[in-house]
Amino acid sequence: MSTHRLPPFPAPTTTPTTTPTGVRAGRSVSALICAVAVGAATACAPSEGAVAPSQAAAVAPASPGAGASRSTTGAPGIGDPDFPGDGNGGYDVQHYDLRLSYDPSSRKLAGSATIEAKAAQDLTSFDLDLHGLTVSRVTVDGGAASFSRGKDELVIEPGKRISNGDRFAVTVDYSGVPEPMRDSVNLGEYGFISTADGAFVTCEPNGAKTWFPSNDHPSDKATYDFQITVPEGLTAIANGEMAGTPQTRAGKTTFVWQEKHPMASYLATMTTGKFQIRTGTSDKGLPIYVAVADSFRGSLGQLLTQTGKITDYWSTVFGPYPFSSTGGVIDDYAAGYALENQTKPIYGGFSPEPAIIAHELAHQWFGDSLSIARWRDLWLNEGFATYAEWLWAEHTGQYTADSAFKRYYANAADSMWAYPPGAARADDLFSAAVYNRGAMTLHAVRREIGDDKFFPLIRAWTDAHRYGNVTTQEFIALAERVSGKNLKGLFDAWLFQPKRPAPIT
Ligand SMILES: [Zn+2]
Repeated sequence: MSTHRLPPFPAPTTTPTTTPTGVRAGRSVSALICAVAVGAATACAPSEGAVAPSQAAAVAPASPGAGASRSTTGAPGIGDPDFPGDGNGGYDVQHYDLRLSYDPSSRKLAGSATIEAKAAQDLTSFDLDLHGLTVSRVTVDGGAASFSRGKDELVIEPGKRISNGDRFAVTVDYSGVPEPMRDSVNLGEYGFISTADGAFVTCEPNGAKTWFPSNDHPSDKATYDFQITVPEGLTAIANGEMAGTPQTRAGKTTFVWQEKHPMASYLATMTTGKFQIRTGTSDKGLPIYVAVADSFRGSLGQLLTQTGKITDYWSTVFGPYPFSSTGGVIDDYAAGYALENQTKPIYGGFSPEPAIIAHELAHQWFGDSLSIARWRDLWLNEGFATYAEWLWAEHTGQYTADSAFKRYYANAADSMWAYPPGAARADDLFSAAVYNRGAMTLHAVRREIGDDKFFPLIRAWTDAHRYGNVTTQEFIALAERVSGKNLKGLFDAWLFQPKRPAPIT
């Protein structure tokens, strides 16, 4: 996730470190910067500021089944301490098969979702996350199941016994007008957002449930098939690669997409509308798919070229590209931010400068291939993607990561010093501290262990946890192993203390 920022870093200003690099903005950049500033000030409460690494380590990472009890009722949350209602316990989703039809004129979505899962306990009932929408039928392994609705929960009682370890398939038929999620501090609207000609679908952190029943937490990743039907003349864009050619019948066109690599639910999309499409291949041979709303047709060629070039470059820095294609989408919905939807980052209402493309494509490694197991570790996504912006600037000769670090460090009054980025707050998740102090943390590590250890560390990180889930403690342990140094003090100062760390030497 990144913001369409004005001005880009480094700004030609006398107060450079107040440049809102990485601050997420909604429709009004200035209004949202204020909102974030207010949120950051609130985050300064000393009683909540410090989380020692030992405390952080004591919190078990969320994992499928983590919320499970000895009962046969799957827990309504997956066990994320800061988002207790997100995800569900008792099972692990393997695959989503989503058959969806969307009509922009009525804003009505009709869907049939089949979720293939493996039980992590005996189950007489379990939940899926679903926000709004009307469920008409649920089956489990083809047999009728009873169901009820709670707040953002679909509670299912299968008509058969499910034992720990069983694989089962639940199919949910549903329809209605999707309602996006709303978050006044950081995000504005997110999830399924209707637009004049279709839908803009960006779901971080928990908006997948606005358009399909899911285990809506990044700790339960799965593969996806999408079959999306829209009125003829519109394009439906999802993750992964298109299977076959779109089929048109009776004024409607069906697009089939497949994401064969594990994906967190918030990275799934079904963005639809009138788009100009271009496909190509990067210099290293990776397929590229880019789409832009008509009003951005002038950006189509550059988006294709930059996406290929930057994806290829990152594969030399971060390790092999984890997916089967790369790409990007510019929609004309003025979200003012971008999201790293797997294989196809989406840019909400602006033509992205290369730094933002570099940020979103770095997320394909940090966030998409390696996904956090709990939201408080978000710096593992945003600190890395922000640091990637600095590395891109370094690579292209604009400025060095060291100069960016120094500019931020020079501002002793920056509110990020009061917000330890290693404990991202649920009520201010996308704080600039998570982005910029997170990136500074990586630079402090780089300075401490040297380039000849730092870049192998990054590649070892993406290799060891490819397609998996990660925690901050795992990164600290790997950094110590690769460097042979005790880095606990460094990480504690940069990630967990509510004050500006001592200067790096
Ligand atoms: Zn980001």
